[in-house]
Amino acid sequence: MNHVFPRHSKAKLPTAVGGEGCYLIDADGKRYLDGSGGAAVSCLGHGDTEVVEAVKAQLDRLAFAHTGFFTSEPAEELADLLIANAPEGIDRVYLVSGGSEATEAAIKLARQYWVEKGEPQRGKLIARKQSYHGNTIGALSAGGNEWRRAQFGPLLLDVSHIDPCYEYRLRHEGESPEEYGRRAADALEAEIQRLGPENVMGFMAEPVVGATAGALAPAPGYFQRIREICDCHGVLLILDEVMCGMGRTGTLFACEQDGVRPDILCVAKGLGAGYQPIGAMLCTAEIYDTIAQGSGFFQHGHTYMGHPAAAAAGKAVVSAILDRGLLPRVQEMGEKLHAKLTDRFGQHPHVGDIRGRGLFRAIELVEDRDSKEPFDPARGLAARIKKAAFAEGLICYPMSGTLDGRRGDHVLLAPPFIIEEAQLDELVDKLDRAIEASI
Ligand code: PMP
Repeated sequence: MNHVFPRHSKAKLPTAVGGEGCYLIDADGKRYLDGSGGAAVSCLGHGDTEVVEAVKAQLDRLAFAHTGFFTSEPAEELADLLIANAPEGIDRVYLVSGGSEATEAAIKLARQYWVEKGEPQRGKLIARKQSYHGNTIGALSAGGNEWRRAQFGPLLLDVSHIDPCYEYRLRHEGESPEEYGRRAADALEAEIQRLGPENVMGFMAEPVVGATAGALAPAPGYFQRIREICDCHGVLLILDEVMCGMGRTGTLFACEQDGVRPDILCVAKGLGAGYQPIGAMLCTAEIYDTIAQGSGFFQHGHTYMGHPAAAAAGKAVVSAILDRGLLPRVQEMGEKLHAKLTDRFGQHPHVGDIRGRGLFRAIELVEDRDSKEPFDPARGLAARIKKAAFAEGLICYPMSGTLDGRRGDHVLLAPPFIIEEAQLDELVDKLDRAIEASI
């Protein structure tokens, strides 16, 4: 034991040995309410027999066939299911093993599309501050999480970062949410003009920002204006729904609620719901056909892409989300969670904002509600809350975000879609105690 390279060498982690519904259980028998599904992964909770049986059946039948030689039934069936439910125009699915693989593939696909289309000068990617797109070099370059990027500067690609759409901090007084949404989106137009539209290959964003900003949903009209700007300049819109997709916000794809269709769409986390590692990059027929009719080969690939057992899990998970009526349930329980958070923390002197969509919610903590001044980073508030919540038997996802060097702390909540109302109360009670013990 103890040869696993831990995330944090100073943290002594309990050993997880079991999972039941919304709870994880450690080797001492302690139960933890999984209020964040790990990192917005376990959307069906733990021990879902239907998904487990689907994976077992696939392993009995066929564990692996390399995608350089074969396609497989579960991979084709999962792709069909995703396309049947994806925004109009999305036509192909590239199956990978996780979120960073999906976003990394998206960046390379966007680049290759322009090369094959005869515009090889299009090599600039624009993304946003306070976003996270994964930890591999391309994905990390696209992300605007300063803390994760800090040590790797010389290795990163030259990606432009515009301001996020962040009403709580960036909307001016007197400005309507719609006006702000338009102004925030117009930052993309300005950046495209600065770089020269003919040089820009794509714009990457999370529809609802997850880990780095805490369930940050866009202002009304923001993504519609973004789509207009992308269309005007032929820039590809790449949406990263690795965290917010697969029903987390109450629709299978988060972008459905903003009325936009991306050119490339990435999902992971909830796609496998933790039962298998799987991610997917979806794209339009136009992108696929350009490459298919050009070189015929997307210059990319991983050994384990389209893994049959992972695809079988993905298919079982998406079927469960759709067939068990979980999308309306996410909307209903999400509203309940929001109301309970507002009840408990709406007047709290250190809670500045309560936000999110569906079962993807967050509270932002501030030293001072009026000035919105964040807590001093030296207090390490997010880490303290995580520890205190864990002691209470609650898994939540506190993080420090950064915006122009200013750190702010938030707590992200993303419980399983099967959560019951009494467990929402348990979650809010435990979170309350953890915050009181930490501030
Ligand atoms: N994009 C987003 C929006 C994410 O939240 C994450 C993971 N937190 C990733 C990409 C990377 O996914 P993975 O950790 O599976 O590589």
